[in-house]
Amino acid sequence: MQNFLKSLLQQRQQDNLYRIRQLHTSVQTPTLLINDQEYLSFCSNDYLGLASDLRLKKAWQEGAEKYGIGSGASHLITGHTSAHQSLEQELAAYTKRERALLFSTGYMANLGVITALLGRHDAVFLDKLNHASLIDAARLSQAKMYRYSDLKVLEQMLIKSSANHKLIITDGVFSMDGNIANLSTIVELAKTYNAWVMVDDAHGLGVIGKTGRGTVELYDYEVEEVPILMGTLGKAFGVFGAFVAGSELLIETLIQLARSYIYTTALPPALAETIRESLIIVTEENWRRQHLQELIDYFRNHASNLPLMESSTPIQPVILGDSATALKISKKLYERGIIVTAIRPPTVPIGTARLRVTLSALHNKKQIDRLIESLNFLLF
Ligand SMILES: *Cc1c(COP(=O)(O)O)cnc(C)c1O
Repeated sequence: MQNFLKSLLQQRQQDNLYRIRQLHTSVQTPTLLINDQEYLSFCSNDYLGLASDLRLKKAWQEGAEKYGIGSGASHLITGHTSAHQSLEQELAAYTKRERALLFSTGYMANLGVITALLGRHDAVFLDKLNHASLIDAARLSQAKMYRYSDLKVLEQMLIKSSANHKLIITDGVFSMDGNIANLSTIVELAKTYNAWVMVDDAHGLGVIGKTGRGTVELYDYEVEEVPILMGTLGKAFGVFGAFVAGSELLIETLIQLARSYIYTTALPPALAETIRESLIIVTEENWRRQHLQELIDYFRNHASNLPLMESSTPIQPVILGDSATALKISKKLYERGIIVTAIRPPTVPIGTARLRVTLSALHNKKQIDRLIESLNFLLF
């Protein structure tokens, strides 16, 4: 086995796909401590800057006082506390849906929903750029899988399919390109061809829309148009976990059938209390979204000579082409004290390796200037 592993890893290295973990020793903010040196980071999904918020820390401490640390069991045994229950009710109200169900992670939420709802006589339609967890979930469901690269192709696939149930799944905000899904066309197609719609709004929730309700708020869509809404709580919410929101019947079905919900330990109740606090802040502190939007506009205006993509979200990729170049520029930035991850195939299509710049409400314009100056120096 050792020889096999060695050759696997060597191949990854040759393909410039070898990944390493960056070890830091600080709170998650735009400045990170690595080997006692300060680095400026443009990598996190902590879009609203809540991961380091002291009010969340306090909520965690108070939750731990009240409930201790471990939940001790799954939700269906003795792990379900009033902290989880209240959070679910508050998430349902926030997303304007009848009910919400907490999952431990977004990955598990996606696995749970899709395998609970679909089987081998059904069909699932996925954008080619959907998150890996959606693709894994679709595979596991055994439904016939269609991958579309544009919505005309999706329509052709829907026309051809004679499956019992059809589910169209899209990211709300695409995590590697930063663009927002064309939900109006997707919802229209779903109506015409009798399909269901699921939106994974991991990168939209908290960020997009006036009150941060995400991509569905931007389109003013409710449960009729988007019956299955998935959101994560470890990105803009700054904490951890995920949820699915929808009708009473959908949530009850998931409680009965979603295996990644049933067969896993409930989140620590103190974590649920922390997310409740975060939800209040996300809802009330509009200035975080406004400031973030200002930073996005500032970056795009001042970096317009760089190979950016059409993105109005905090995800601002700089396209560099091949993996080796992306990796090299990322390393050079690092030497200058700036961290931006290089994203390479298979995460993105071949030939579109990139630096994935993400902005946070905790960044300031000076820091963005520093990034742009360095990119200009290294690229031109
Ligand atoms: C991050 C992410 C997930 C996974 O969520 P976790 O809570 O980190 O497991 C799912 N879908 C999308 C689009 C994501 O960006």
